[in-house]
Amino acid sequence: MMATNGKEAQNGGDDVLTDTAVVVNGAATEASSHSQRQNGGPERAERFTFTPKPTIEDIRRMQAEFTDERDWNQFHQPRNLLLAMVGEVGEVAELFQWRGEVAEGLPDWTESEREHLAHELSDVLIYLVELAEKCRVDLPQAVLRKMALNRLKYPASKVQGSAKKYTEYKD
Ligand SMILES: [Mg+2]
Repeated sequence: MMATNGKEAQNGGDDVLTDTAVVVNGAATEASSHSQRQNGGPERAERFTFTPKPTIEDIRRMQAEFTDERDWNQFHQPRNLLLAMVGEVGEVAELFQWRGEVAEGLPDWTESEREHLAHELSDVLIYLVELAEKCRVDLPQAVLRKMALNRLKYPASKVQGSAKKYTEYKD
């Protein structure tokens, strides 16, 4: 497989993990040992949060610099990026394959497995951001518009605690 996002080229392959593992979900792991809310979810006060940087625009710029430096822009057309992203989603799925249900916080995963997951999720995000760029979709603003539509489609007052599709709700 051609190394189009650099990780394979830098690390020599997906199975080679760095020794810079970080705790990606320490808060969530902690939450799993505490009391659960009635619906089985973690308590809101203990919800995992991201650091604010890099922004989506930062990620777009970093990936643009990465591809420019390697003259890879010629390969990074929308369809190719879409297929690359789907391939990376498959690599994420591989990590969950045959494990059965996995609890929030991944309490049974090793640090190496968590770091491998962090790599593959990053690959998906990087390709998603680049795909949006090449399709001229301003992703942060698009997310705001879509979240507003989702709120209209699934009013909290109507759908509380239900997993029904929006077409199954009655006014
Ligand atoms: Mg990958």
